[in-house]
Amino acid sequence: MTARDKLTFAVTGMGCEGCVDVIENAVMPMTCVAYVGISLSGGTMTVRPGPGFDPVAMVSRIVALGYGVDEAPVEGNRSNACPCTRPAAVGPEGLR
Ligand SMILES: [Zn+2]
Repeated sequence: MTARDKLTFAVTGMGCEGCVDVIENAVMPMTCVAYVGISLSGGTMTVRPGPGFDPVAMVSRIVALGYGVDEAPVEGNRSNACPCTRPAAVGPEGLR
């Protein structure tokens, strides 16, 4: 892995597409984040850092929403139950 290309974070608490929307909407507007993609089935969030990327600020936004995320990027998959009450079909689109 060269410079800061993409970072993957394990996110706990996501269980449906509502969770994905909530987290994306929280992280996407951050100027230090160039891109965010969330894998619902994998329980991961892939971030392309922008200028002055601040993982602590990013994490605190997500934690404030009721999810768990580690500041340290990880490899691997998690699967979790979710705390949101939005009924949504969980599709297999994130499976790899
Ligand atoms: Zn949910």
